[in-house]
Amino acid sequence: EDELIGHLGGDNFMALIHRERQELMTEFLAGVPLELDLKTGRRKFTLAATVGIWEIDDDNIESGEIISRPSMALNQAKNVRHKNVVIISDDQIARIRQQKSVLAEYKEALEKEEFKVFYQPKVDSRTSCLVGAEGLVRWMRDGKTVSPGIFIPPLEESGEILLLDYYVLKHVCMDMKRWEREGFQLVKVSVNFSRKDLRDSGLAENINRIIEETGIDKKMIEIEVTETTDEEEHGALTAFINKLYDYGIMTAIDDFGAGYSSLSTLREFRVKTLKIDRSFINTDNFSWKDEIILKDIIHMAQELGMDIITEGVERQDQLFFVNKAGCFIIQGYYYDKPLPIEDFEKRLCKKKYDKL
Ligand code: C2E
Ligand code: CA
Ligand code: CA
Repeated sequence: EDELIGHLGGDNFMALIHRERQELMTEFLAGVPLELDLKTGRRKFTLAATVGIWEIDDDNIESGEIISRPSMALNQAKNVRHKNVVIISDDQIARIRQQKSVLAEYKEALEKEEFKVFYQPKVDSRTSCLVGAEGLVRWMRDGKTVSPGIFIPPLEESGEILLLDYYVLKHVCMDMKRWEREGFQLVKVSVNFSRKDLRDSGLAENINRIIEETGIDKKMIEIEVTETTDEEEHGALTAFINKLYDYGIMTAIDDFGAGYSSLSTLREFRVKTLKIDRSFINTDNFSWKDEIILKDIIHMAQELGMDIITEGVERQDQLFFVNKAGCFIIQGYYYDKPLPIEDFEKRLCKKKYDKL
């Protein structure tokens, strides 16, 4: 009697029900029995529904919110999780709102140049010298530094990451050009491109054009990409890497060993560099199995003429472990975090680290 069901339109319904009846309700909605009276006779069906749930804890909530929050849960269930029932938490709602605000403000922020490139050093641990860097983007938003973990996922999902990736590449090239003019001795800098960028069929051409327009030596830029399980993406990735290769632009496989990676990557792709993911070293005790796997991957890649770098090295025992496995180029907090440009320029002047 004191519950409500409303029809929002189309095949969307909303129900305001007591919490103790939630399970009963979702069980019912998993297979609603229907009987249709067709001219040829009665037919029985079951109809399944996708359900988004938001549990109301606050009596003072506005009615608009009561409608919009379960809708967010439903959206998650349909588009993100592919689950029949999703219960959404207040944290998730805050995250979704944040993602929406990212998408709403992103283009203007690009125009206002609110995105800045930080540079994380890559160090040869045999000489303790800077040998390269990775350009990592940050959003300077209302005086706060927003990390890419917040804004990259929504930009990838909406396919809008491409503009940012071109922006970062362009700024890296411009920074390098300036360093060259100011007499710094350059190191190679890598730039990330999202797999979602592969949808742009002119991606390799555009990257080549941006580098050529700034007049940077192509050997000084490297493009980082990650592997994929999606067959269509895989084809596009292979074509992309090959095109870059023909332009004389080298690529690196990022996050190798995280989630999906396969040894056929080493065979198929014309990549220059393999970046070993930090998950390989993200442990307190290295087992002999870890060591054998890492050693073999490094050995194979080296035999194939690739450069190897390990990222996420924070501690000396991790450094020793990867050194022992045969990798000496290191990117990680052990040497430096991603640095604002002024700090990185100091590092370009004094390339040698004091630590071992
Ligand atoms: P990634 O490409 O794997 O970059 C390495 C990330 O690991 C960076 O996080 C870096 O700060 C972090 N890291 C480096 N060394 C250590 C370490 O020793 N310990 C730990 N715990 N972390 C370490 P960041 O800068 O937050 O970037 C996160 C991800 O965002 C990047 O992962 C990359 O996938 C993406 N990203 C960053 N900038 C761009 C960009 O310009 N374009 C695209 N498409 N993606 C970007
Ligand atoms: Ca990367
Ligand atoms: Ca990585």
